Amino acid sequence: TPVVLGPQEHGIDPRLLSSNAIRVTSTLQEAGYEAFVVGGAVRDLLLGVKPKDFDIATNATPEQVRKLFRRAFIIGKRFQIVHVMFGQDLLEVTTFRGTASASAPKDEHGRVLRDNTFGSQAEDAVRRDFTINAMYYNPATEQVLDYHGGIEDIRGKTLRIIGQPEARYREDPVRMLRVVRFAAKLRFHIEPATGAPIRAMAPLIDNVPAARVFDEMLKLLMSGQALACLQQLRKEGLHHGLLPLLDVVLEQPLGVKFVTLALDSTDARIHAGKTVSPGFLFASLLWHQVLEKWTAYRTAGEMAIPALHLAADDVLESQTEKLALQRKIGSDMRDIWAMQPRFERRTGKNPYKLLEHPRFRAGYDFLLLRCASGEIEGDLGQWWTAFYEGDETEREELVASAG
Ligand code: ATP
Ligand code: MG
Repeated sequence: TPVVLGPQEHGIDPRLLSSNAIRVTSTLQEAGYEAFVVGGAVRDLLLGVKPKDFDIATNATPEQVRKLFRRAFIIGKRFQIVHVMFGQDLLEVTTFRGTASASAPKDEHGRVLRDNTFGSQAEDAVRRDFTINAMYYNPATEQVLDYHGGIEDIRGKTLRIIGQPEARYREDPVRMLRVVRFAAKLRFHIEPATGAPIRAMAPLIDNVPAARVFDEMLKLLMSGQALACLQQLRKEGLHHGLLPLLDVVLEQPLGVKFVTLALDSTDARIHAGKTVSPGFLFASLLWHQVLEKWTAYRTAGEMAIPALHLAADDVLESQTEKLALQRKIGSDMRDIWAMQPRFERRTGKNPYKLLEHPRFRAGYDFLLLRCASGEIEGDLGQWWTAFYEGDETEREELVASAG
């Protein structure tokens, strides 16, 4: 049975809840079901942070949920969840899920492949990852239900896995990456027993489908604490041999300055509420690998532009294999890289043409990063800033002076 906390005890500010989250829980409750805000949203509410999205947990089946809303879609084959849409806003509604039973199918390393049984709320809480992610909030009664001491861990800024750590990591090795992400993002300390097995168990991540690792990596890089996350990954021994992308990033002295600047600016954008394109992010993380190969191809006699394309191909190919970079992200990366030599041609119509490139802004931001990291002369960046911001006459003068 859970510890139940009233508004005086948990101190959640109800204004941090979205009206759509309340709409979903109250609709379900009026139809006779149980419904709660769950997971990361409750954690954020308790920390006084406005949640970026709301997950809802209920005892209604996906079919029962779907019938209650005008725009609701059942998604997922293995474990069905319902997406409820209000305009642009999307809420995920999940039926309480049972614990991974002893008979659930596993791979040869013990990773659970499928566990798609419904269960009670208590079972739903047990199968969640961390104590602070396993609380339920009922907006109608303003009560928090805490099954695993999550409140205490929020107060003590402690990240603690539920259950026996080794067993939980074996069931799902991605949880090790999540430890790092939440510890860095929330600035929580990792409870010793939760952290202890990670170094030894890190290689298990190799057996996780690449697309899942990629999703988690993207969340990590977009957490607003990307730099802290990468440093923490390194500390936990999670970067070596299992994530080729990180090997490259963290072990290349030349690239460290560039990557640090890129991640700093990503973190700053996130904090300012701006969007970050995954393509830009990965283009930055892999740039120094591209540079290395570009030089090698030129030394071998290729012309500059074809050499750059060959280098881009090589890097994209080596990363796609393991990290399942999506096609769209890959083509964004290629665009950003391929634009770079074009910034050097500042005569005639060249700069005007480049300005019209649909991805100019990303390419230009990338150029500025290269300048800031000391890879190329700052003058070039300054010239482009003046050209980009200048009016007709100023641009003509700039082109004339560049010639
Ligand atoms: P964020 O604010 O970064 O989205 P979150 O806690 O909402 O954080 P999600 O990845 O959106 O993280 O997951 C939602 C919830 O689902 C978690 O709070 C947790 O309860 C549960 N969960 C997610 N991934 C796992 C996992 N690998 N193992 C166990 N439970 C998980
Ligand atoms: Mg979430």
